[in-house]
This record gives sequence, C-alpha cells and structure tokens, in this order.
Amino acid sequence: MSQPQAPARIPQKDVGAKANVKRLLQRRSRIAAAGVTGGGIAEQAGVRGAASPSCGLPVAANTVVVATGARYRRLTARGIERFEGLGVHYAATLWEARTCRLDTVAVVGGGNSAGQAALFLARESPAVHLLVRGEDLGHNMSRYLIDRIEQNPRIHVRLHTEVQEVTGEDRVEAVVVRDNRTREQQVLEARALFVFIGARPATSWLVGAVTLDPRGFIPTGQDVAHVAADLWNPLGRAPLALETGLPGVFAVGDVRSGSVKRVASAVGEGAMAVRLAHEHLEEVRPPATR
Ligand SMILES: Cc1cc2nc3c(=O)[nH]c(=O)nc-3n(C[C@H](O)[C@H](O)[C@H](O)COP(=O)(O)OP(=O)(O)OC[C@H]3O[C@@H](n4cnc5c(N)ncnc54)[C@H](O)[C@@H]3O)c2cc1C
Repeated sequence: MSQPQAPARIPQKDVGAKANVKRLLQRRSRIAAAGVTGGGIAEQAGVRGAASPSCGLPVAANTVVVATGARYRRLTARGIERFEGLGVHYAATLWEARTCRLDTVAVVGGGNSAGQAALFLARESPAVHLLVRGEDLGHNMSRYLIDRIEQNPRIHVRLHTEVQEVTGEDRVEAVVVRDNRTREQQVLEARALFVFIGARPATSWLVGAVTLDPRGFIPTGQDVAHVAADLWNPLGRAPLALETGLPGVFAVGDVRSGSVKRVASAVGEGAMAVRLAHEHLEEVRPPATR
C-alpha cells in the first residue's frame, strides 16, 4: 500500500473538475477508513482519509486493494472432509474436470454456479447428477441455464435430494443421497462431488462505499464503467481491469465478482492489482513527486 498523500496535492486539471476530485477523495476515504483489527477489518464510518487499526495508528491511502475473499458454505455429509481434494471439489475448472473427465460425477447446489458447473462437466463426463435440495431449479437458477440443463441428456437433475455420505477407498467412489420428502436413501456412483452451495463475500464493511453486485461481490473494470461517471470523467479514463466503482480501489481474488475462485488466479490478480495501483498513483501524484 502506498504512503499517504495529502488530498490537496492531487492535480486538478480544471476548475470544474475540482468538485469531482473532492467527491472522489471523500468517497475513497470511506474505504481508507477501514482499520485492521486482529483478523478483520472494521469499518469506521465518518473517519476521513484515515484508518485506525487495532494498534491505534491511523493509516491513510491513495489506493486500496481489497482481497478479503469469500466464505464458502461446506457440506456436512459424513466422510466429506476425508475426500477434499480427492474427488470433493469447491471449484469446477479445467483442472478438476481433467481428474474425472470420463467418469460419472455429482454436483450439489441449485444456483447458477452449480448449473454452470454441471453444464461444463457434462461436456466430457458421461453423466452428471445435479443434486438439488429444493423442489425446483427455477428458485435460484437463471432460466437460460435451466433450459440448457433440461436439454442436456447427460445431466440428471435430482430434486429434493440431500447428500448424506461420501464413500470410497482412496478417492470418492459413491455418494449416498436421501430424498428429503420420502427419506428414501440411494447410492449414486460418482467419481467426484462438486459442491456449490453458496459463498458469502467478506464485503459487509464495504456496503455503501463501493458498488457491490446483488450477492455482495465486488464488480470491477467494464462492469462498473457505467457507475458514477462523475468520478471517472475528471480522470479522463474508464475503470482499469481490477478497479472497483471507486477510482483507486481495486478488488482481487474470490471477493471479486465473476472471479475464477482459484488460488492461482487470486495470486495473479493480486500481482496485477499492484501494477494497476501504481498506474493510478501516477495519475494522482503531483508531477514534482513522480
Ligand atoms: C474447501 C476449499 C477447497 C479449495 N481447494 C482449492 C484448490 O485445491 N485449488 C485452488 O486453486 N483453489 C481452491 N479453493 C479456492 C481457493 O481457496 C480460493 O480461490 C483462494 O483462497 C482465494 O484467495 P483470496 O485471497 O481471494 O481469498 P482467501 O484465501 O479467502 O483470503 C481472504 C483473507 O482475507 C481475510 N479477511 C476477510 N475479511 C477480512 C476483513 N474484514 N479484514 C481483514 N481480513 C479479512 C480472511 O480471513 C482471509 O485470510 C478451495 C476453496 C475451498 C473453500
């Protein structure tokens, strides 16, 4: 994170831009007003341009990178922890798909992430069981995904279905499921279980400070280009790739809307954000200090 800069040193290209720059600084200061308190950041609304960590020292910043991640809901089925990484996955990228590409797999969840994963895995897996606790897909999934799932002969949707147990020797071999109406149990052969039952981004401290999507994740780049044009106009540019709706504030990793949810991508985005933060600092730093 950069050293604090006095707001007065920010170049103001013309008189008309002054008010906008001031507004930008005021809004950014709400982010800077987040202090690290032990394992967390506590918002301190109303503090301008300074943060007060638990050690009591104020911190000011011209740029902020948010990397607070998301908390994934875990399945509580018997045996599941033993197989994490051995067939139980919380992401469905090419890497996971390769470990089970010619096998029957199961996906747990009734939302868009589960639907997208099922469609993606069905490109190679001969059968994908989509295990949904509720009574219909329409409750949490977009219509276009439901249509594609219903048209895909490899995807078998099982409603009212809950995972009871995951079994196998060295890796997942079967999933024991239960119909939550009849309580009838069934063993489904599956070489992998993909869990998509929700993730909660750690962004409660940012509410009202940066734009969040309906699920609380932070949109960046093109997704926020339309937000608060009055903040971007004085800068004469659109948001940078990982920049949030607030100029100079970046978001990386799981907390970012639409992110890949992988360690490697979080690390890559972190490195990229540092580069972009420097670009932003060049912009706000007065010529004498460049
Ligand atoms: C069970 C499971 C298995 C996974 N397996 C794999 C795998 O095999 N391979 C893979 O690539 N990915 C895997 N992932 C995904 C991977 O863990 C994430 O994509 C990655 O950790 C994201 O990194 P991040 O820095 O964005 O968030 P995180 O790693 O979640 O880091 C966020 C950090 O910010 C802290 N924090 C949150 N709120 C605040 C706050 N207010 N103030 C201060 N600090 C805060 C958190 O405590 C945490 O330390 C797995 C995820 C899960 C849940």
